[in-house]
Amino acid sequence: MVIDSDDDFFKLACAVPLQVATTPVMSAAGVELVVRRDDLIDVSLSGNKAYKLFYNLRAARDAGYSRVLSFGGAYSNHLYALAMAGAKFGFNTLGVVRGERPKLLSPTLKDAQEAGMELVFISREAYQSKSFNELLIDWRNQYGDFYLIPEGGAGLLGASGMSLSGRALEEQLKGDYTSVCIACGTGTSLAGLAAGLVAAGRHDKLALGFSVLKGDGDLGTGIAETYRQLCITQGFYRSNESLPAANWRLISGFHGGGYGKKHPPNLFAFWRSFEQETGIPLDPVYTLKLIWGIHCLAQMGYWPRGSRIVAIHSGGLQGRRGFICP
Ligand SMILES: *Cc1c(COP(=O)(O)O)cnc(C)c1O
Repeated sequence: MVIDSDDDFFKLACAVPLQVATTPVMSAAGVELVVRRDDLIDVSLSGNKAYKLFYNLRAARDAGYSRVLSFGGAYSNHLYALAMAGAKFGFNTLGVVRGERPKLLSPTLKDAQEAGMELVFISREAYQSKSFNELLIDWRNQYGDFYLIPEGGAGLLGASGMSLSGRALEEQLKGDYTSVCIACGTGTSLAGLAAGLVAAGRHDKLALGFSVLKGDGDLGTGIAETYRQLCITQGFYRSNESLPAANWRLISGFHGGGYGKKHPPNLFAFWRSFEQETGIPLDPVYTLKLIWGIHCLAQMGYWPRGSRIVAIHSGGLQGRRGFICP
């Protein structure tokens, strides 16, 4: 991966493999499922987190920072990617993790630390007793000045990076697909993906986000705002007035018990059979629920026969280590 050139990164994104996933359920529904393997864009730094970090790290470098700080949990794909990116591109990285330092680090945090990330644990009491700005001042006093990257790489810069995946997909398939599906946490990636299709002149293609959260009540508000800002700031549209209907939708109900929760037996069985049938590995928190949701909808007859559905493999495979996997 590269961060100096948009063109070089876009070229990498255009070379991401597209893999047809043939399963009995999709075949019976007469629907082709194509998986865009964004998990394979780079060996150590992959998935949507690589895209979301791209412009964030560029901004840090352009502003003259050599140190970046961000947040995450013990199995965070974002902190993992940030640590790998730091090692690759020469940034010092600080990873703030909520909670006391455990006796035994999770495999994710252990790898992050070995890649050079300094882990900063913050107790819940300390987190609650100070304002965010006070915490930032403390950390700047302790570690030196840093560029702040939002948790998960959320925000406009993150979405902007992800729009490259949508543009690259259109470059690869030239409109020969029905819709594009992606797993949603914050929905930053969905907003970016949808805006990327717009940028590529494919406003007619829908980006469908499958939420992995049980309570995703106002998720859509944030997505709408990021999408709108991205479409306007990137010049896809000139103003609010000229924005046509959005080309993204949020799909709920396939969270499988909620974020990071133990899987119900049917979901676990699906995980195993999908991997056996296609050879495509899935992560437990995001892509499993996406692919499961696509299959459930196929069984309900949601996809018209003859549809060609693209699923974005947003990575996260490092997180398998914290889970019992098939
Ligand atoms: C973080 C993550 C997501 C969710 O991305 P958002 O932009 O927060 O919606 C999806 N898939 C994987 C593998 C992730 O690590």
